[in-house]
Amino acid sequence: MSTKVAVVTGANKGIGFAIVRGLCKRFEGAVYLTSRSAERGAAAVAALEREGLRPRYHQLDITDTLSLETFRDHIKKNYDGIDILINNAGILFKSSSKEPLSVQAEQTLFVNYFSLVSSCDILFPILKNGARVINISSSFGHLSNIPSVELRNRLKDENLTVAELSVLMRQYVDAVKQGTQAAEWGNSSYAVSKVGVTALTNIQQRILNSRDIKVNSVYPGYVATDMSSFEGPLTPDEGAAAPLYLALDAPDTIKGKYVWYTKEIVNWD
Ligand code: NDP
Repeated sequence: MSTKVAVVTGANKGIGFAIVRGLCKRFEGAVYLTSRSAERGAAAVAALEREGLRPRYHQLDITDTLSLETFRDHIKKNYDGIDILINNAGILFKSSSKEPLSVQAEQTLFVNYFSLVSSCDILFPILKNGARVINISSSFGHLSNIPSVELRNRLKDENLTVAELSVLMRQYVDAVKQGTQAAEWGNSSYAVSKVGVTALTNIQQRILNSRDIKVNSVYPGYVATDMSSFEGPLTPDEGAAAPLYLALDAPDTIKGKYVWYTKEIVNWD
C-alpha cells in the first residue's frame, strides 16, 4: 500500500508545530513539517526528534510560487499525493505595530488569504481522492465581523467563486489604501483575511465534493504563541486538538464547516 502523507504549513512553531507533534503520534504515514525558514524548520524537527518523533521536513514559503511548486514536485516524485493538508501558516500585525495600515492590510491579505489561494491552486491537484483539508481560521473569521450587510450577503452567496472572492479581498486592500474601508469592512485586516479564509473554505468544499475531499475551517482557540504574545489561555497542544480532530477523527459528514476549538460546528453567518 502506498505511504500516506500529511502536510502542515508554518509548522516551525506555535499551533502548526503542535499539530505536527500530534500527527507524528497518531498518523500512520509521512508527516511533513514545513517552514519558510529552513534553519527554523531544522530546529523544530530536532526538537520533535528529541521527543522520539520522526517528522519529515521540506522548506515551504506559502508566499513564494517557486517554493510551493518545488514542494509539490517533491511530493509528486516520492508519493502518490497528499492525504491531509493543514493550511496553518499566518501572520498578525500586533496593535503596537508602526507599519502604516495600508501596508498591514496588503501584507495580511497577501499571506493569510492570497497565499492560501496560491497554496491550494498548486497543492490541490495532488490531493488524493478522499483527502482532508483544514484551513486554520479564527474567531475573527466569523462573518459577523464584517459590518456591511451587502458584503456579508456577497460573502455567503452560494454561487460566489474564488475569483469573485479574491476581487472582494482586493477591493478591501484598495479601500484601506484610499482610507475608505472602515464603514463596510470593519477595522481589522486580520479579521477580513480570516473571513476570506472561511468563505474560501465554503467554496472549496463545493468544488471538491466530486472528489470526496473534505475541507473545513477551524478556530483553534486563543492560544499562547508568538502571535498572541503568549497571552492565550490554551497551550499549543490544546490549540492543535480541533485541527487534529478534523484531520483524523471527524466523521466524513463534517465538511465545508466552520469548527470551533471545542470541536463544535458553529454557524458561520
Ligand atoms: P505563530 O506566529 O506562532 O506561528 C505562525 C507560523 O506561520 C510560523 O511558523 C510562521 O513562520 C509561519 N508563517 C508565517 N508566514 C509564512 C509564510 N509566508 N510561509 C510559511 N509559513 C509562514 O502563530 P500561531 O501558531 O498562533 O498561528 C497559527 C495559525 O493559527 C495562524 O493561521 C493564526 O492566524 C491562527 N490562529 C491563532 C490564534 C492564537 O490565539 N494563537 C487564534 C486564532 C487563529 P516564521 O516562524 O518563519 O515566522
